[in-house]
Order: sequence, then C-alpha cells, then structure tokens
Amino acid sequence: MMDKKRIAIFGSTGSIGKQVLEVIEANPDLFSVEVLTASTSHELLIKQALQFKPNIVVIADESKFSLVQSSLKNTDIKVFAGEKSIIDVAGLDCYDLMIAAIVGFAGLKPTLKALEIGKPIGLANKETLVVAGDLVMQLAAEKRIPIIPVDSEHSAIFQCLVGEGRNKIDRVILTASGGPFLGRKPNYLVNVKREHALQHPNWSMGAKISIDSATLMNKGLEMIEAKWLFNLKPQQIQVVVHPQSIIHSMVEFEDGSIKAQMGMPDMRVPIQYAMSFPNRIAANFPRYNFKKPDTLTFEEPDLKTFRNLALASEALNKGGNLPCIVNAANELAVYAFLHNRIGFLEMTEVIEQTMTKINFIENPTLSDYFETDAEARNFAATLVNI
Ligand code: NAD
Ligand code: MG
Repeated sequence: MMDKKRIAIFGSTGSIGKQVLEVIEANPDLFSVEVLTASTSHELLIKQALQFKPNIVVIADESKFSLVQSSLKNTDIKVFAGEKSIIDVAGLDCYDLMIAAIVGFAGLKPTLKALEIGKPIGLANKETLVVAGDLVMQLAAEKRIPIIPVDSEHSAIFQCLVGEGRNKIDRVILTASGGPFLGRKPNYLVNVKREHALQHPNWSMGAKISIDSATLMNKGLEMIEAKWLFNLKPQQIQVVVHPQSIIHSMVEFEDGSIKAQMGMPDMRVPIQYAMSFPNRIAANFPRYNFKKPDTLTFEEPDLKTFRNLALASEALNKGGNLPCIVNAANELAVYAFLHNRIGFLEMTEVIEQTMTKINFIENPTLSDYFETDAEARNFAATLVNI
C-alpha cells in the first residue's frame, strides 16, 4: 500500500478547511493530517486536533495559546501561536501537501514559505495569486512544484486541460452564479444589508468570499487567478453568468471545441481532486440528475451594476501592482461592509478611490507588494473610518 499523503491544512477552521477534513475522514487510508492552523477559533481547532491527531497545531491569536495547549496536554500534539508561527510551520519539512485555505492576503506568506521548501500546494486562497501571481508562479516553476487549484472554476479548467499537453487554448470561460443579487439594479443594492448579502443561492462559504460573490468581485479575482494559473492573456478570459452553477467552467481550444466540467455545486469535489491528483477517488456526494435536469442558462454579466467586476478587469489588464491594490482595498471594504460601516455600493467607491490614489508600479518586487498592500489598506481605512 502507498504511504498516506500527509496534509497540512492552513485555515482548517474555515469553510474550505472543514471540507478538507471531511474528505480526509472519508479516506483514512489515503490521507493523514499533519498540521492544522486557525486564526481565532480555538474551540473548533481543539476539537479538530483531538479527532484528527495532527503533529502540529497553530493558533494565530496568541491570547488563545494556553487554552489550546492545556486542552491538548494529554496528547503529543505540538502547539504554537502567532502569525509568525504559521509561516514557520509552513517551512517545516513534515508534510506532503499544503492546502492553502487561509482567507485573504494573510495566506500569501505561508504559501510562499511552502513553495520555498518545495511543497506542492492545493490552492484555495485565490488572493495569493491576485496579489503576487507572477512571483508565486515563477517560484513554483523554479522549484518544479505543482499548484493545484481548489477554486471550483479553476479546478474545472485544470480538469479540462488534463491530457491536452501543449494544445493551444483560445480562451477559458469562467462561469459565475451571479450571486444573490443577480438581476438587481443599484436602486435595490443601495439598501441591502450584510445578512442578505451573505445568503448565496448555490454555495455555503466563508463571509468574505460570500460578499465577494454578491458584488461579483469574486469573479474578478478569479479572472486574475486564471491568468496566472494557466498563463493566459487577459483577452483570453471571459466571464459568463450561469445561475445554476452546474457547469463549473470551460476551455475553448483553437479548433473551436469546448470542454466543460460539470457536476453539483459541492466544494468537496474540487478539494478532493486537488488532494488526489492525478487520480480520482470514489465519493458518494449528491449527483446531478439528468432525469430532472435544470435548464442550463447563460447570460452576460451586468458590469454597469456590478462595477467591482469591471474594476478587477481593469486591474487584470494593467497588471503591475494594481491587482494588489484592488485586493487590499476590497478586503478593507468587505470588512467595513460586514461591520455595517458602509453600504453595499460604497464598497466599489472605496476600491475605485484606492486604485487612483496608490502609486502604480509596473514590475513590482515582493517587498513592493507588501508595501502596496499596507499603503492601500491604510488609505482605504481612512475612507471607511476604521
Ligand atoms: P473562511 O473565512 O471560512 O476561513 C478562513 C480560514 O482562515 C479560517 O480557518 C481562519 O481561522 C483562517 N484565517 C483567517 N484570517 C487569518 C489570518 N490573518 N491568519 C491566519 N489564519 C487566518 O474562508 P473560506 O470560505 O474557507 O475561504 C478560504 C479561501 O478559499 C479564500 O481565499 C476563498 O476565496 C477561497 N475559496 C473558498 C471557497 C468556499 O467555498 N468557501 C471556494 C473557493 C475559494
Ligand atoms: Mg470560485
């Protein structure tokens, strides 16, 4: 029998992290848990640690260290705390695959650390590629390490490309559900509140990505993510709204043939594929029923109403540090919206103003990206009074 693949889950207490553990629980012969990390949810982290018996857990919030340590004192699990420990543990040669499931810019450093020591990545954290996709992909190429997408659209494209070798891609078509406010206009959106925006029709996800889905920023971030993962030109990336979320994305080749990857909207499928690649493993997740099919529909995104997608496209086209600026402003804007500081449409204004304010850098270094992120965050914070 093959050795079990040792999985390090960065962000184990989140929506993706919990589903990674479901896949591991269902396949105990294939996977073991080596590392679990969390930001502040110490109770869930302790529960996960007691069930899955990793070698290491890390809690970013240092005030929770002694609670976690005392709860695990009868085990041989090592406990660390602090943001720096998360990065240090990413650099330990004790796991076979990192699942990068931390949300936001905070996920960049641990992923870079894993790449530096040559660890394959199952990447859920799209912000890593939005901010520094050039440097991240370059490092992965130098180290000859795969970055396997977990994001469902990118997993779909990745699956469509298996077996295609050097065959040329004309374009990729990213499908978007349209989110909870599909078809709505600004006069409606101006009044929507966080509870409403958090209700996604097809997927249950963490708070930040749920808001990004409601504004369509998520699809903009995914366009940038696709550019780096699949080495595409901006004009090769098209977004189409497909409200049923059955086709997870498509690739059109130079002969006009289009491949699509389909299935029920269930993140465990792309998560599991990233973990078992290049193999597939059996699963009993709900299946699409062709006896009671949905009508699959496609429409253009409404860029006039959902302007975040237009702003992200602009960042995709201009490149440099502009995607990093957009990402930082968006993280701040989403935070402010989730805390009822600003309205739904004001998120777009925060991003737009930050894009014009922060200096453009055409060929940023890694430290430029960190500086850009900090400057953009600070400026956006002044706009929302945080
Ligand atoms: P989530 O908010 O549910 O979980 C985030 C995880 O990251 C938690 O474990 C949290 O403790 C940890 N975390 C947050 N801030 C941190 C920090 N500063 N330092 C260290 N750890 C921190 O988010 P999620 O929905 O699971 O999404 C995770 C990532 O996956 C995001 O980048 C998201 O865009 C991407 N993604 C999610 C889904 C989904 O279905 N949820 C789908 C596609 C892509
Ligand atoms: Mg996605």
